[in-house]
Amino acid sequence: MTVAERLHAVHARIAAAAAAAGRAPSSVRLVAVSKTKPASMIREAYAAGQRDFGENYVQELEAKALDLADLPDLRFHAIGHLQRNKVKAVIRRAGILHTLDSLRLIRELATRAALVPTSQRPAGVAPDGRYRVLLEVNVGGEAQKSGCTPDELGALLAEVEQSDALVLSGLMTVPPHTDAPAGARPYFDRLVQLRDRHGGAARLPELSMGMTQDLEQAVASGATLVRVGTAIFGERER
Ligand SMILES: *Cc1c(COP(=O)(O)O)cnc(C)c1O
Repeated sequence: MTVAERLHAVHARIAAAAAAAGRAPSSVRLVAVSKTKPASMIREAYAAGQRDFGENYVQELEAKALDLADLPDLRFHAIGHLQRNKVKAVIRRAGILHTLDSLRLIRELATRAALVPTSQRPAGVAPDGRYRVLLEVNVGGEAQKSGCTPDELGALLAEVEQSDALVLSGLMTVPPHTDAPAGARPYFDRLVQLRDRHGGAARLPELSMGMTQDLEQAVASGATLVRVGTAIFGERER
């Protein structure tokens, strides 16, 4: 199958899951996760109408952003674990940041973001030029995983809201691995509960959750951004 055909199939999955949940398909945005895949595949997806792409690694993000600079409305989402010393490079290329999970990281981001002239900010920032920020929550409480704890969330949300260069966009999670896709559902529901506890959709409009294996469960729970790689671009080499 071509990238365009695979994209079409993923949109059909999203539409079916949305319909089953009584949601409008347009309430779910697909972020095509292109990590480890060549810029040529991103071009194929772009030609098929895809505009949102997720990248995990800074160097790869930079190389692809340069390669694809002729496509100004292509939006990169930073979805990998962020290190403080990489923030400056990431915000030159990505306007939507999914994985903020500590006060130190948010402060670094706020400082760095304020130094980028609005005219030089990448596609994907809000209409007023602010970077869109999602906080990653470790809903499974896994020791090795990034993401803040539910208890930390309140302080982190307030910190994002203090910055003129950032706009609070929502919450993101990667659930613990389970063999059956349905195993992810309780973790997605937990993220929804946290959103409701911290101001609901008015304050946190986006929920970034669901990948190739479990996007149906995520859409059923209320995902607004699903991050799908394998189903669009094929298996990744490890
Ligand atoms: C790689 C990755 C994805 C995509 O996973 P697939 O199973 O290939 O769809 C989604 N989210 C994050 C954070 C990732 O690192």
